[in-house]
Amino acid sequence: MSLSVAYCALGNCRRLTARHRFFSTVKTVNGFIGAIGNTPLMRIESLSRETGCNILGKAEFMNPGGSVKDRAALYVVKDAEERGLLGPGGTVVEGTAGNTGIGLAHVCRAKGYRCVIFMPNTQSQEKIDLLRMLGAEVFPVPAVPFDNPENYNHQAARLAESLGSNAVWTNQFDNTANRRAHIETTGPEIWAQTGGTDQTDPTGPPLDAFTCATGTGGTLAGTARYLKERDPRIRIVLADPPGSVLHSYIQSGGQLTERQGSSITEGIGQGRVTDNLRPDIGLIDDSVYIPDELTISTLYRLLDEEGIYIGASSALNVAAAVEVAKQIGPNKTIVTMICDGAYRYQSRLFSRKWLESKNLLTAIPDHLQKYIVL
Ligand code: PMP
Repeated sequence: MSLSVAYCALGNCRRLTARHRFFSTVKTVNGFIGAIGNTPLMRIESLSRETGCNILGKAEFMNPGGSVKDRAALYVVKDAEERGLLGPGGTVVEGTAGNTGIGLAHVCRAKGYRCVIFMPNTQSQEKIDLLRMLGAEVFPVPAVPFDNPENYNHQAARLAESLGSNAVWTNQFDNTANRRAHIETTGPEIWAQTGGTDQTDPTGPPLDAFTCATGTGGTLAGTARYLKERDPRIRIVLADPPGSVLHSYIQSGGQLTERQGSSITEGIGQGRVTDNLRPDIGLIDDSVYIPDELTISTLYRLLDEEGIYIGASSALNVAAAVEVAKQIGPNKTIVTMICDGAYRYQSRLFSRKWLESKNLLTAIPDHLQKYIVL
């Protein structure tokens, strides 16, 4: 039996063209950088069944550096090169909660640059270790608010400045090359994978809504910009954890409040409107608040029912997609981001002591507590 016939025999073959498309996507790419993007869109079966909607997660953990931030890392480095700020022997400096730094460390190794990372000392040890293994110089610094000069971003900016020429602070929060990565890659990929809203391409379900949380805002803003330009009917929903001000900002029609509380999610939640988010904040139709209890129970449920092992921001995004499905469903398609895997956080997310310290043990149903092995 030929491979294509075997594939059809498995029940996967809807149409001849779809089958050809499947095989034509298997290709060779150029190194680490060539492997960034073009991630699959995964249907989350149990939640789709439960909501009567298509809940689809963009499998960003399949990027070569393991997260959605590989896209932004590549774009900010390319932008610095194109603007003549970075060349052979150069240094990239960034303030990052982890994943952008990991993406940057990979891209810098692939391109031969020195990589220096400042990060808040609240981040997981796995991420710090990995950055160092990838050759980055890492400085964990006290987690203080953005308006404090000792904030990790300002420390990164000062170091780049002191190094002089051929050293850049890539400034992921306010460098809009980050947002451009998603206008040029994530948005078009989701559009192509879903067949848009008008079903001109029947290989995917129509797209009704996109939801995700924001850290820098690059993913939400850039993806929303592309999708809304293709079809303004696509609903854009911001998902927000505790300790972030964006949900109340959207709900109040633009009032910024003080940050209060904190979340177990890493890499998301924001105290201000970044330059990446500002141009597109008007494209956001609504926002949903996801408490940590729902994030952690969704994370354990996805592992148990789907076999997917994802980080807390991804679990929050999936929980948000379910909320959106309840609001606009049934028979709708909602896309969200599976930003990274749980591997980077497992010493926390699967530790009984840590869960207890966050008062989250009771949020995990008894039959799922078998996964708490640390
Ligand atoms: N999830 C994780 C795990 C992240 O590291 C980040 C980036 N800090 C995000 C989500 C948010 O992405 P963005 O910066 O594009 O808003």
